[in-house]
Amino acid sequence: MEPHEDETLRGLTEVVLGELAAGRVRRGGPLPAGGPAAVKVCVTGRVGSVLPQVGIGAEVALRELTRALVLGSADSAEAWCVGHLHCAALPVAVAADLAASALNPSMDSWDQAPAASVIEAEVVAALAALIYPEAVAPDAVITSGATESNLVAVLLARETARASGGSAVQVVCGDNAHHSVARAAWLLGLPKPITVDCPTGVLAPAEVGRALRGHRRWPVLVVATAGSTDAGLIDPLSELADVVAAHGAWLHVDAAYGGPLLFSDELRSRLAGVGAADSVAFDLHKFGWQPVAAGVLAVRDAAVLAGLAHHTEYLNADDDLAAGLPDLLGRSIRTSRRPDAFKIAVTMRALGKAGLAGLVEHCVCAAEKFAQIVDTHPRMRRRPGAVGISTVLFRPVAADELGFEEGDALVSRVRRELLAEGRAVLGRARVADSDGRIKLWLKATLLHPQTSGDDLAPLLDLVADLAG
Ligand SMILES: *Cc1c(COP(=O)(O)O)cnc(C)c1O
Repeated sequence: MEPHEDETLRGLTEVVLGELAAGRVRRGGPLPAGGPAAVKVCVTGRVGSVLPQVGIGAEVALRELTRALVLGSADSAEAWCVGHLHCAALPVAVAADLAASALNPSMDSWDQAPAASVIEAEVVAALAALIYPEAVAPDAVITSGATESNLVAVLLARETARASGGSAVQVVCGDNAHHSVARAAWLLGLPKPITVDCPTGVLAPAEVGRALRGHRRWPVLVVATAGSTDAGLIDPLSELADVVAAHGAWLHVDAAYGGPLLFSDELRSRLAGVGAADSVAFDLHKFGWQPVAAGVLAVRDAAVLAGLAHHTEYLNADDDLAAGLPDLLGRSIRTSRRPDAFKIAVTMRALGKAGLAGLVEHCVCAAEKFAQIVDTHPRMRRRPGAVGISTVLFRPVAADELGFEEGDALVSRVRRELLAEGRAVLGRARVADSDGRIKLWLKATLLHPQTSGDDLAPLLDLVADLAG
């Protein structure tokens, strides 16, 4: 690229940074007020046709669309934007992603990504070793997130079964498992998963044992969850691993949320047993402060990745591979692929394991503190039980005083009012109360490295006022 093009990028980057700073102040809250209709008017009124006959020029287009984007964003950098596993991206990761975009390596062949493929190999080796410190030959591949990781895990289990003459795989998971697990089975043409009820929020090993004893037709893949999306709860991985091993089944752990606890010496024991899993999904765009996408699928035995093997003349010809060019196509179900490992590498090197552990521990502590604040709030009630990683579920006492349906409707209405007023993004989760009844809860997922539990205390008063 000509040097003057780098200068163009520098100027345009300044435009973006200027708009980000100004827009965040002007928005004055975690999301735009007014709901979908108002935001649509605001964006289209500001921007006009996105495909004009004659372009308006880079700087003007970038300025006006960035302004619309920042004014209209649900901004995960805001303390009261806690609805989802939606994190603020670290500046170091964003800057690294700029370099990746500018050079645009594509991870489907070495001749499009010479250094990026080395960096990716280093990143997956480090993460595979983090997840599987005792395994002989662990490996990992980069994915677009845990949806793809879960799909590829089911695919690898199926291919492993096929290699020994099997025709299908039966997925067994808890009702706490992520929806992408059932979708993976559907996409791969496999039978519907056997779903085990989880009244406590986590998968009970005895129930899994029962399901495994009742199924003899096909090889089984059991999916455990380390950090449920709704409640942040972690299945008892060690006990599950024993049950699954006794039945010769495949164990996949969906640690999309909980995986980064492994960075922390203090917290990694919460994932004890994860190393016994055949495969593990691990996201860094949730509890790892990366821009989307930053997914990882780790496997205990690199040999199972043979299930992804695929050959095409122009990307991984046999003679090129024999001459030493690495086979990148066989490491993904995608072809063109962003170098997402690059920002992960820069972040891990910048912060180190200790730095990442500090961020993870901060969020876990902030959630514990927030849970205490909910517990002492006269008009709020927390879902009984331990805090799940950094997720706190609660509902207004006023909702408990109504019938079940009316109570849930009140919770749902309060959440939408906060959105409509641009005051806060809270999530919603339908999970069991201590009486066994499934109820609707407000969900706060604390992922911001600078937000404390106290920062969210006034939000409880606001929720209580809206609940009346
Ligand atoms: C978010 C999530 C997923 C899906 O991951 P994506 O990165 O959004 O594809 C899967 N499993 C769990 C437990 C999750 O929380």
